[in-house]
Amino acid sequence: MPARPRGRIRERAPRPSSSPEVVFEGRGYWRGKISALEIGVDEEGIITQVGRNVRGGRRVDLGERLMLPSALDLHVHFRDPGPPGSPESFASGTKSAALGGISAVVDMPNTVPPTTTPERVIDKIARIQAHAQIDVIPFAALRPDTNVARLARVASGFKLYLAPTTGDLGVDTGTDVGELLREAAATGLPVHVHAEDPRKFNPRDQPRETDAWDRSRPEIAEISALEKLRDHPAGMRLHVAHVTSAGAARLARELGASSEATPHHLLLSTSLFGNSFQKVNPPLRAESTRKALWETFRDGLVPMVASDHAPHSLSLKEAPFPEAPSGMPGVETLFPLLLETVRRGDLELSRLIHAACRNPALHLDLPRGRLEKGCEANFLAVDFRVRRKIRAKDLSTLCGWTPFEGREAVFPLEHYLLGKRIVDDGEFVGGVRGRSLRVAPLLPKKSPHLPGSPPVRAP
Ligand SMILES: [Zn+2]
Repeated sequence: MPARPRGRIRERAPRPSSSPEVVFEGRGYWRGKISALEIGVDEEGIITQVGRNVRGGRRVDLGERLMLPSALDLHVHFRDPGPPGSPESFASGTKSAALGGISAVVDMPNTVPPTTTPERVIDKIARIQAHAQIDVIPFAALRPDTNVARLARVASGFKLYLAPTTGDLGVDTGTDVGELLREAAATGLPVHVHAEDPRKFNPRDQPRETDAWDRSRPEIAEISALEKLRDHPAGMRLHVAHVTSAGAARLARELGASSEATPHHLLLSTSLFGNSFQKVNPPLRAESTRKALWETFRDGLVPMVASDHAPHSLSLKEAPFPEAPSGMPGVETLFPLLLETVRRGDLELSRLIHAACRNPALHLDLPRGRLEKGCEANFLAVDFRVRRKIRAKDLSTLCGWTPFEGREAVFPLEHYLLGKRIVDDGEFVGGVRGRSLRVAPLLPKKSPHLPGSPPVRAP
């Protein structure tokens, strides 16, 4: 058995309260409110004190900029190792994430080769440690042919694909899903599910635009796949990736699973003109379904948001609809797009902070996503008056396109990772090494439901 990978483990003993090395001062989101705020940070990048009159340390005045916790994206595909010609890697993807206000990502296992053995997880950890500029949490594939217990010694969680999609990790429709979930539950690690049931697909539909793509992989396929999860062990950390409808979100909740929605399912819908750049699994839905999903998310019933960043190259996506791969990039625009919805008054700031920062961190039990003593000082400085239109040419992701071209967004002006500035005035400066984070097993989890939050409006 190879050596256990290095990386942060949750077993950090409570720290004695030490005097901070640096104190950030200005305004910030703290305990559900925006107020004058000071954050003391020690030399290891841990928050020692939050509030007012924090004494000691060098002072950094953030002026009018608002301090918010940085986000954790539960769902990216950085394709490292990737197929030849893949435009993304840990180096480029993590830089892109940093610019979008994200300080940690969960990287999915449908790489080439796929993350199906401990050796491949260890190879991924080495790549992360060599190239990542923010923290990365590697997941492994959950399949009947994988050694779940061995994988659990090195991976931080599992992805279960109930349908074929990029990477060919989908399990057969005859698979005993309950048995797979019991095996995974015994490890105490989270299991994220791509929930679509291929038996409910309509292959005769010959999709050539997004309306038909939606009909060919309809919402009922999602509901049917979720029903297969009913028989999961109580208390396991079960999470449903990319719910596309209010019905799917409600069913996930009823099953005792947490869930995430993507910005593309929250903000984009199908049309007769929706081309292969809008092709994604599960598909975009009709405008009425999108609206209902947005309302469910806005009301706090979808506890988390994640990008499902899938950086296919321009040339692959320019192929005719039937041949083009499914998926769209989004790690860099996830938080800025939703900050813009907050600025417009369509979403409470507290909802966004819970969905993008706090709840993903609680789900993985990591000390981040909150500006609280003992948490890592991973935070942003944001000015809601500084907006810009999203342009593919301005983004850092190497795939060269975005489904959100021309949309307004609020990009963070500064990003601090462990108290060190990695984005300055909207430019990536880096200088902090990303870590491969290890999620510790939790057995059993009391309640997978994450609490809601009181409303707070953006200033
Ligand atoms: Zn995905």
